[in-house]
Amino acid sequence: MKDKYYFQCINCGTEYNASEVTYLCPDCETKNKSDQPPVGILKTLYNYEKIRTRYKRNKLFDKLKEKEYCDLLPLRSERSLSWLKVGKTPLYWRNSSDFEILKKNHFSILLKDDSQNPTFSLKDRASDLVSAYGRENGLNTIVTASTGNAGSSLAGLCAAQKQQAIIFVPQAAPKAKLTQICMYGARIIPVDRNYDDAFELSIAATKRFGWYNRNTAYNPFTIEGKKIVAFEIFQQMKQKIPDRIFVPVGDGCIISGIYKGFEDLLKLNLIDQIPNIVAVQSEKSDNLVRNLTQTAFVSKPCSTVADSISVDVPRNYWMTRNYLEKYQGESITVSDKEILAASRELSNNTGIFTEPASAASFAGLLKYAEQNRIAENSLNVVLLTGSGLKDLNSVQNIIKIPGPIKNLDQLEL
Ligand SMILES: [Zn+2]
Repeated sequence: MKDKYYFQCINCGTEYNASEVTYLCPDCETKNKSDQPPVGILKTLYNYEKIRTRYKRNKLFDKLKEKEYCDLLPLRSERSLSWLKVGKTPLYWRNSSDFEILKKNHFSILLKDDSQNPTFSLKDRASDLVSAYGRENGLNTIVTASTGNAGSSLAGLCAAQKQQAIIFVPQAAPKAKLTQICMYGARIIPVDRNYDDAFELSIAATKRFGWYNRNTAYNPFTIEGKKIVAFEIFQQMKQKIPDRIFVPVGDGCIISGIYKGFEDLLKLNLIDQIPNIVAVQSEKSDNLVRNLTQTAFVSKPCSTVADSISVDVPRNYWMTRNYLEKYQGESITVSDKEILAASRELSNNTGIFTEPASAASFAGLLKYAEQNRIAENSLNVVLLTGSGLKDLNSVQNIIKIPGPIKNLDQLEL
């Protein structure tokens, strides 16, 4: 393989040169059925040996510290990435005793706050890389199917890069998210019926009009963009890995991105082992973790308060399952009630307001603590993936906004 990177199909293992394929493994793609997670998703691999010998351990770490990840990205130059500040989000180091509910515990909680991205979600990491790749290769019309966050993310990054974003949305997509997409100047194409129909039409449009497609678990570079969050955690912990990372899971793209980031570091001998990663799903949308112990995948219709991780057929199921099995990852489900309580606990005790899908990871940590599964003095990262302002409706039932007063005598103290 003479290119900087190449692809490997996660199902059949076939390797492809970078110029041979763009999206799925051509052999596996034909086997896909709509009620099953897709096969043929590609993993992007690099010449790790060459990178290792080119940089000694410290020099490579310095390079990572400078946020110059270009050796581990499918780009010619990091200057192709957006001028907006994507990633480089804070990792807040807190103690369990900072939280009312965890007062009796003694461990560290490291909050990786990815709501601090330009369009307020971790998805900007994927959009940034796809948009930069498009820029380097003259692909300036980029299309995606989205229920909201990925669409607004691509729209925002394309606005910054002066590219045209086209977003296929299910007809019931929430107005707040559509408004954000429109404000960035992207073209919205509502689709009769649901996300799966929007997904299929976006792929048909790619084939017919030649638009570049950003769909997650279709374009392999979305994983490459999301993996950078693992590099940042590694840097921010001063070349250490945490004991556990709690990750909210819907279709499995973010958790696979984190695994891929740590796997790259492992291949470069920068770490000795992959941290213990916990996949957290909502009880009412558990199609990924429920199927982990089964041979045949069976989807159950879902409806959870955490709409960003509400997924009937997780599109990155196979990659996530492979990673969890290979590195002995863990999984847990949390109820909607636990998600909303965790969201409030987090906001009340930290000033960080995340959307329910994002609070699911903190709910997972709380449940682990309740079950005495977190060791004393351990380091536990909680990945917060999106801002609470994106989904105000879900938390409105757990708060009470008081009525107006006319004078201070009416004020109850
Ligand atoms: Zn294949």
